[in-house]
Amino acid sequence: MTNISDLETRVVQYCQDLIKFDTTNFGNNKSNGESKAAEYIAHILDDLNISYKIVGPDHNRSSIIAQIEGTEKSLPGIVLHGHLDVVPVELNQWSKPAFEGIIENDTIWGRGAVDMKNGNAMILSSIYVLIKSGWKPKRNISLMFFADEEAGGALGSHFVTKNYPEYFENVTEAVGEVGGFSHTLSNGVRLYLIETSQKGIAWMKLTSKGKAGHGSMINNENAISKISKAIDNLSNHRFPVTIKESVRTLLDETAKAYGTSFDPNDPEKIVSLLGNLSKLVSATLSNTANPTMINAGYKVNVIPGEATAYVDGRFLPGEQENFVDDIRNIVGDDILVEAETFDVALEAPFKTAIVDSMIDSLSAEDPGAKVVPYMLSGGTDAKAMSKFGIKGYGFTPLLLPNDLDFTSLFHGHDERIPISSLKFGARTMHRFIKTL
Ligand SMILES: [Zn+2]
Repeated sequence: MTNISDLETRVVQYCQDLIKFDTTNFGNNKSNGESKAAEYIAHILDDLNISYKIVGPDHNRSSIIAQIEGTEKSLPGIVLHGHLDVVPVELNQWSKPAFEGIIENDTIWGRGAVDMKNGNAMILSSIYVLIKSGWKPKRNISLMFFADEEAGGALGSHFVTKNYPEYFENVTEAVGEVGGFSHTLSNGVRLYLIETSQKGIAWMKLTSKGKAGHGSMINNENAISKISKAIDNLSNHRFPVTIKESVRTLLDETAKAYGTSFDPNDPEKIVSLLGNLSKLVSATLSNTANPTMINAGYKVNVIPGEATAYVDGRFLPGEQENFVDDIRNIVGDDILVEAETFDVALEAPFKTAIVDSMIDSLSAEDPGAKVVPYMLSGGTDAKAMSKFGIKGYGFTPLLLPNDLDFTSLFHGHDERIPISSLKFGARTMHRFIKTL
């Protein structure tokens, strides 16, 4: 068997096997646990004589970390990372089982098929065939598969960076999820989007205080009315458009593909040409703040003394100092605003050697590839590593069918990955890792 057919067989097997471990992360420290998936990866590393540590705050919530020594000590190290957990499933909304890794219509179905057991499988299968062929990296590679990414990473990437900083010494770059996937424009031009930037996170709790009392009487200090007004103000607020470099390059290149030019005064015109990607790209033009939960009252004839709402706030790079204060101004003095979860925004350069290697790997597998940067509206484990000055990139390469609404599969029903896309990803990842 040649290396490449072994690679393709393995990536499918690993992806199916990893999906079979139900690693659902419910948030608020409730989880089915990642440890069985970490042990599965340990067996693969055992076979390669790569030493590793299985680590975590308790025996259910394991991450697995390993190091492959590079041959050129003068070069900086690199992290290749994935996460082992997945978000919950509403099983009655699925047409296939979510944790069996079944194959139907040349597609692997199941939770984690795109987020991101596919990516773990690509890294592992590439490392496997490379090491078995006698290859050694020039750079030190830290291999990390984290728990708890889907709840912000406190028990995974943040735990590991805090307790095992030696794995990040002299590391300059980290390569992980949500990037390198194809998006074919309506005119047939195929873009590949590498994530070079991501928004910051501010998950906020809003509280209004009022005067509790009888529902039949006049009450000018109704906590529910106050919180409703605050949410209304927030929903009607238009955050100013600020076009960051990664977004600018993406929109310039998209415009160019249509033979037109990008007008910063009318960004939505070009954003709309991105079809089903536009809801993501549109969110990277400005800060956003979406109300997501509201809680107040307990009986129809009682006015409660307090009401709370939760807001998912996301800010652009460079805006983290002011963002929460801006929210306070929008909702007004009457509302207490607390940022319960807060994490940084990231920006990494696109014109750099590591991205050139990604571009070369993609172009070797798809000669028509037009590779562009983009900003992720969400966040990844790269945030935890940024405290060491490590630049994060999203690169889980996939050549996707033109009609697949890929971003909707993230956390969506019937999550699935075409096998041809997965094999393309493994071949591209293999080429990329080989350059390290
Ligand atoms: Zn993910």
